[in-house]
Amino acid sequence: MRRSLNHLICAVFLAINICAAALPAQAQSLIRDAEIERSLRELAAPLLSAAGMSTQRMNFWLLSDDRLNAFVAGPRTIVMHTGLILRLDTPEQVQAVLAHEIAHIANGHLSRRPANMQASGRLARLGLALAIATAAITGSGEAAAGIGMGTAGASRRAFFAHTRAEEASADKSAARYMISAGIDPVAMVDVLTVFRGQEALSTARQDPYVRTHPLTRDRLRAAENAASQARVPDRDNSNSAYWYARLQGKLSAFLRNPGWTFQRIGDRQDELALMRRAIAHHKTPNPTRAIATAEKLNEVRPNDPYYTELYGQILFENRRYDAAVAAYREAASLAPREAQIQAGLGRALLALKTPNADREALRALQIAYSRDPIDPRLLRDLAQAYAANDQPGMASITVAERYALRGKLDDAAIHARRAAGLLPAGSPGERRAQDIIRAAERARDR
Ligand SMILES: [Zn+2]
Repeated sequence: MRRSLNHLICAVFLAINICAAALPAQAQSLIRDAEIERSLRELAAPLLSAAGMSTQRMNFWLLSDDRLNAFVAGPRTIVMHTGLILRLDTPEQVQAVLAHEIAHIANGHLSRRPANMQASGRLARLGLALAIATAAITGSGEAAAGIGMGTAGASRRAFFAHTRAEEASADKSAARYMISAGIDPVAMVDVLTVFRGQEALSTARQDPYVRTHPLTRDRLRAAENAASQARVPDRDNSNSAYWYARLQGKLSAFLRNPGWTFQRIGDRQDELALMRRAIAHHKTPNPTRAIATAEKLNEVRPNDPYYTELYGQILFENRRYDAAVAAYREAASLAPREAQIQAGLGRALLALKTPNADREALRALQIAYSRDPIDPRLLRDLAQAYAANDQPGMASITVAERYALRGKLDDAAIHARRAAGLLPAGSPGERRAQDIIRAAERARDR
């Protein structure tokens, strides 16, 4: 997880970073973090397998938002608010939420959403991230569908909100997935109880979960019935418990104040306590202790790409760029498919400011981009790397895409037109530029 230097973007619109040092109230930003997404994937894996779905093709994104919510943002994307994860107490409760969202996807509840949301093109993916960000800002799906999806009328309202019939069907399937995965569905009752009473509140005071997933007394009663009748097979759930501890440990250490973390871990020296302590020292800030603790963490559990990445991040944010590059290089070799680790390597290389490092940075950032372009910070670094390597056309299209991700399509179009003028006609970069120009025109016409 990274701290943003750009508080303006953080406050105004979509930024990947948790602005840990100064998180503005109600700031919403998409957090891209390899370790957190891996944790959610591990928690979801037994449920996806029960639903007959592939684990690797799913995205699990986190939105920095204190309010309680989780929602499906496409046939492959589940979004959870940080507030919900911090509020839930057990791996089973997080899995109950995931099971419910997976059921919305498996049961085809997206099919009445705008048809082009299902499109898999590059721009559709950018548009999707845009839609999520906009929905998060406005608290409704309406603006989202308008900007990102190119749809009109009543279907916009249906973008994120489910019907009561869909809720009942999702709860039923979720209970089935949980039982088949050996997870007691009583956790679903616990989750619904967290939201009980919110129906009576005014819309402004409700957590958005209640708006995206209509909550009724019937829903709670059905969940209680399902739980009381369930025969849950005995399965080894230790993998879920482990990744849940990493998820909660990392998130809370970054989001809560260091004192809270120090108090909870006491003088424990286990792996998870070391991870949380390293982050708490880093936030204090106490660079010497943060670095020493991260080193110890990597001795206790060597060859863990995410702990190596965390070490690299702490070094980088303390301007120890050579050491940061070495750590990120190792993390990237341990997990060559993790886009955000490649992006971290590229970022650290750029900080070295030498021609060789600039060339290598561009390669690392291009790899990260090819795996996962929905990452505003990656786009910022990639634009810088193109500029440093004398590729102004590619720098411009990358800046344009970054603006598009932030919902600023007019600014995006300005940079896209500049890119189109610099890049050979028909080249991949030029086609990306034309995509943005067309999207901006469509948004203006609407
Ligand atoms: Zn629902």
